[in-house]
Amino acid sequence: MSGSSARLAAIEAVTTYRPAHEPLSLTADTASELYGSNVFNKAAMKARLPKPVYKSLERTIDTGSKLDPSIADTVASAMKDWAIQKGATHYAHVFYPLTGYTAEKHDSFLSPDSEGGAIAEFAGKTLIQGEPDASSFPNGGIRATFEARGYTAWDVTSPAYLLENPNGKTLCIPTAFVSWTGEALDKKTPLLRSLQALNKHARRILLMFGHENPATVVSYAGAEQEYFLIDRHFYFSRPDLLGTGRTLFGAPPPKGQEFEDHYFGAIPERVLAFMIDSERELFKLGIPAKTRHNEVAPGQYEIAPVFEHSNLATDHQQLMMTTLKRVAEKYGMTCLLHEKPFAGVNGSGKHVNFSIGNSTQGNLLDPGDSPHANAQFLIFCAGVIRAVHRWSGLLRAVVATASNDHRLGANEAPPAIISVFLGEQLSDVFDQISKGGAKSSKGKETLQVGVDSLPTLPKDAGDRNRTSPFAFTGNRFEFRAVGSGQSIAGPLVAMNTILAESFDWIATRLEALMKADGGDFHAAVQKVLEEIIKEHSAIVFNGDGYTEAWHKEAEKRGLPNLRTCVEAIPFLGSKETTELFEKYGVLTPRELHSRMEVYLEQYCLSVGLEARTAIEMAKTIIFPAAIRYQSELAVTCANLKTVGYTFDTETLDRITGLVKELQDGIAALEKSMVHHNGKGKLEHAKHLAYEVIPAMAAVRKTGDTLEAMVADDLWPLATYQEMLFIK
Ligand code: ADP
Ligand code: MG
Repeated sequence: MSGSSARLAAIEAVTTYRPAHEPLSLTADTASELYGSNVFNKAAMKARLPKPVYKSLERTIDTGSKLDPSIADTVASAMKDWAIQKGATHYAHVFYPLTGYTAEKHDSFLSPDSEGGAIAEFAGKTLIQGEPDASSFPNGGIRATFEARGYTAWDVTSPAYLLENPNGKTLCIPTAFVSWTGEALDKKTPLLRSLQALNKHARRILLMFGHENPATVVSYAGAEQEYFLIDRHFYFSRPDLLGTGRTLFGAPPPKGQEFEDHYFGAIPERVLAFMIDSERELFKLGIPAKTRHNEVAPGQYEIAPVFEHSNLATDHQQLMMTTLKRVAEKYGMTCLLHEKPFAGVNGSGKHVNFSIGNSTQGNLLDPGDSPHANAQFLIFCAGVIRAVHRWSGLLRAVVATASNDHRLGANEAPPAIISVFLGEQLSDVFDQISKGGAKSSKGKETLQVGVDSLPTLPKDAGDRNRTSPFAFTGNRFEFRAVGSGQSIAGPLVAMNTILAESFDWIATRLEALMKADGGDFHAAVQKVLEEIIKEHSAIVFNGDGYTEAWHKEAEKRGLPNLRTCVEAIPFLGSKETTELFEKYGVLTPRELHSRMEVYLEQYCLSVGLEARTAIEMAKTIIFPAAIRYQSELAVTCANLKTVGYTFDTETLDRITGLVKELQDGIAALEKSMVHHNGKGKLEHAKHLAYEVIPAMAAVRKTGDTLEAMVADDLWPLATYQEMLFIK
């Protein structure tokens, strides 16, 4: 393989890669010893706290009841001793600002004493509350910079943990982040509030089904994280990857993913070493990493943990993303969490598997063997269908980011139209209900493989559907439109809240019907189910979501098709959404509005950065390469002429044309960037979406055409083939 000197140096470094450290010893520390060793979990608390203190804390953790402030000093002191014994020197309140990242401010345990020494201190009030100077976090107008106060509040329900660094450990305390006025500035606060709303209304239904004293209902989430790994040398050689997380130029390689030889293929050695190491790091943090495999695109992989309480799963998701990035560096690679780092090959999503349940009734979305007879399941399931139908625009809005726009609707990820896949068995049951009552469930069949020595396999009640954005997968729903780089908090807040609304409606309706019908609960349930099916079955679609026919059909059904952020994000500001979040105590109108502003701002920042990066690369990397080649061709042509040959100038003509096209394209892109932000963020975002992004795509097209023509030794950018296939 040839290439410019920069590319050759990168390839040389990649192909001679040797691990810089000793292999891990898997026998010295077994995975089960490691698991949770850096977490101040219930076991650690139980061992270190006086019994009444532990009991009080446990109650708050399990039921979400109010924290007794009088125990804070005792807990803080035990937590500090635990952390210091394990080598911690600092503590940090960790919070989740609206950027989607994780923020932390570290403080030393040491406080000077009066005799010139220092003592380790960590008081209850320091555990409960922190005050980072938070003026630089986006707040969407909730707070002016001169009133910068923001508070972090200890989230007792998510355990503290130690973050390791070769030179020390930090005690990290998950917190909620609010302004001086008590308004939410983060992703955790509304998540906790939405869980309260969900619990309240789901329990109303459980009580009607005759369960006495049902335990707190929560939602659970298991997020399948897709990511790319490329060698760091390639990463650092590309200003677009480094600055924006995705390639803004790059011609398709001769071989892409069409052979489908990567999916579930043997995992390359360096990648597997990285996976094993990152899983062990996750185990220490008590994160139950479970599944690993190659994904569809070359260089793409997936990791999935076992599902957890959605608040914990969200914190763990954030930690997982930082862990993957950190450990990849140790193996000389960069982990790309962007939704679409490479055009033309599959992007990365984060399928969020979602269910609701509690410790007394279990998973409320588990249909059991005969769903038609499981009225409680049908009611909760119908509640989800109703919620998704009513709030499909909102669900689209909470996965709207500049980067996810490249993925949704690109026929490799779910379309931007939100629909629900139910599968054959459930669709049939709901069909029967709509005709007066369900009498049977299509049973589970067995599968004969045709080889005597192989076992007979039980067949699932329904096949999978990979094209659905919101699919029922046996005992949970899988929200597939979520982007790989996103925090899952937003999608979970939306899910919890719309389910609370739906369960509220169902409970209220059941109560009313019971009164009117003289208390026949079964008749009331059948009636409510019928009503929901009649009103909301338009959201159910079991076919291929990628087809043009579905787009037409969805339009007929009145389902929104919000292709980009500028169409989707405004849903956050709609009257209905504002009332929804206010009614269920999840976000005040001001909090919600501030979020919409922040997300629009983020969109503008991302697209603006991409456009500026594209201009710079086109001018300083692609244009020079093109004219060097052009000059080489011209010199050859002139030289041949002097000795009496004629040179076929077809390539020179074409390059000359493309050079002109590139210059014109850059000029047009620069011109499109001159736009005044005066009419508000949404107008500016629309300008970026409808003017700047197409202008950027035009420059890319010219650049990629040039890449396929310019002499390889003159081409300075690492190619798709190199980045995706050299490991
Ligand atoms: P897939 O076959 O969809 O790729 P994976 O095994 O990769 O499945 O991931 C499935 C995810 O769903 C895991 O995180 C798993 O823990 C999670 N999951 C399983 N059951 C539930 C449930 N009841 N609620 C929420 N998540 C669940
Ligand atoms: Mg999977």
